[in-house]
Amino acid sequence: MIQKIKNCPLCGSSNFIFFSNLKKNLYSEIISKIIDLNENYLIKKIKNYKCKNCGIIFKNYWFDDKILEKIYNSFVIHHPRGQDFKSNLFSKRGLSSAFSNLLIAKKKGDIENENRYSRTIKSIIFSIPNYNKLKSTNWISANSRSFDSNLNIGLLKKNINKIKNLINEPVEFKRFSGFESKHLWKYLNQQIKIKSYAEVGCPQWGLFGLVKNKKIKKYFIKRNEKNFWGKKCKINNSKNCILYKKEKTNFKIINYENLPKLNLKLDLVSSFQYIDHLREPFKFFENLNKISESQAYIVDNYKSFDNTIYIQHFTGWSSKPFFWVANKLNKKIKNNFARIKNTENDLFLLT
Ligand SMILES: [Zn+2]
Repeated sequence: MIQKIKNCPLCGSSNFIFFSNLKKNLYSEIISKIIDLNENYLIKKIKNYKCKNCGIIFKNYWFDDKILEKIYNSFVIHHPRGQDFKSNLFSKRGLSSAFSNLLIAKKKGDIENENRYSRTIKSIIFSIPNYNKLKSTNWISANSRSFDSNLNIGLLKKNINKIKNLINEPVEFKRFSGFESKHLWKYLNQQIKIKSYAEVGCPQWGLFGLVKNKKIKKYFIKRNEKNFWGKKCKINNSKNCILYKKEKTNFKIINYENLPKLNLKLDLVSSFQYIDHLREPFKFFENLNKISESQAYIVDNYKSFDNTIYIQHFTGWSSKPFFWVANKLNKKIKNNFARIKNTENDLFLLT
């Protein structure tokens, strides 16, 4: 069910040290049910280690494919952040309904839903421009994450009406805006002349919507996922998420497993918040490097927040492991996209 990890999943080294403990979240709740282990025990048993050679953070135990399939095929079938991309949950109405659901759950002592709506409300607030500087929202701690459910309900109650009035356009690189950012596209084009472009990972939240009318070749790379974005991941409970996005933005679907046969040479492949799910990340880097000149990776910026890699992510990424990869593949790293700094994300471009 869970397997001990004996070597660094990126470089293979066995020289690693303790890095951090886990925090509870939606996935620790779900996984503890699936494998029938007490949640407190589970988050104590699984820890984050740091490889002394390449600098990647990884879990001392990781789940086998059967468990991963169970999580993503039966428990969290639809990728929540993909569903929320451009959804109307980010609205006065959305906040009101999450708030009343939170109060109901609290009254009933329904901790699961109390946590769930706390996280929803936090991600709504985090999408408000400059929320950390405004009087009605700055009481949320600066290093609080959208993954955890820590929320002061008393202070929320006090400020809820003022918060509703702050809701307008969600800021970029957050739950409701995803990575569909014109600033990101502009930045990438300043570095690379993009005539052909592909994405792998969640098809909803990337750049396809922004480039749909541009004269470039567009591809979605479909992997045989033990993850979201598989057969069952649907938008509005009806359409497969990949086909839904394809209809709206018109890309060609290619299979990851067939890449070696396709003889492609793309200008850029992007993968946004994806590589931390991979069991063998270096193989993935190598494969994308074979079919493209440059690769853009957006990863969770754990270092600027609480230094925790949550239970659903096998690995944690920062400059050091990217430099290790770049060195192996004989590539250069760019990590200077200013607008993404201080969000929960960071961008590494391999060219
Ligand atoms: Zn390593």
